[in-house]
Amino acid sequence: MDKKNEISCGCGQCGIELNDTSPKYSLMCACEDCRQALSWAEKNGGEKPKNILYSVYLRSDISNYFGLENMVATHLRDEATSTRVYCKKCYSCIAIDHVNYHNNVLMIQPDHCKQNFNVHIPPKAVINLQDHPDDFIELDSDTIPVFHSRKYPQERKRFLSIDPIAEFLAPPKTQAKGITLRDLISKIGTIKVLHLNKGEAL
Ligand SMILES: [Zn+2]
Ligand SMILES: [Zn+2]
Repeated sequence: MDKKNEISCGCGQCGIELNDTSPKYSLMCACEDCRQALSWAEKNGGEKPKNILYSVYLRSDISNYFGLENMVATHLRDEATSTRVYCKKCYSCIAIDHVNYHNNVLMIQPDHCKQNFNVHIPPKAVINLQDHPDDFIELDSDTIPVFHSRKYPQERKRFLSIDPIAEFLAPPKTQAKGITLRDLISKIGTIKVLHLNKGEAL
């Protein structure tokens, strides 16, 4: 029983196992929603978020899961596009879905959950820098593509031109062998709406 395919919460009360553990791509995300979601979790006992979050995308193909009764699925507000799954005991965030993932990939932020396999690959871009609280921002690389926002068609086109992002922000070409994160979220049942105002500091 030494499979290296598990993502779990910090206290070990819930987690998922993946059929495909190879990271598809990663990004550094500075968006206010990620920060707000994790600050909400921090108030409940989770880790404090950094201003820019390492975010990695994996196939949404879950071979096994445990502690469903300890999972809570949340939306930041009524019109949310992301669904975040946390542990109700330690407030690790174990998986994130977004409407744009098309049930193909799921996202994790490895500083906010545990993994027993390698999820660290060089990020393809730094995104949503418009939301970063500082005026001047040091990045690990001065050649990595940066995106202030994705408000404009030029930015969206430039973002989707980074290989292999477009491939994974489209419906999957092959069906998941197990269940998808969306299937898991429907097993959790209700989605808790946090009713947080956009950009509001917690
Ligand atoms: Zn936990
Ligand atoms: Zn974000």
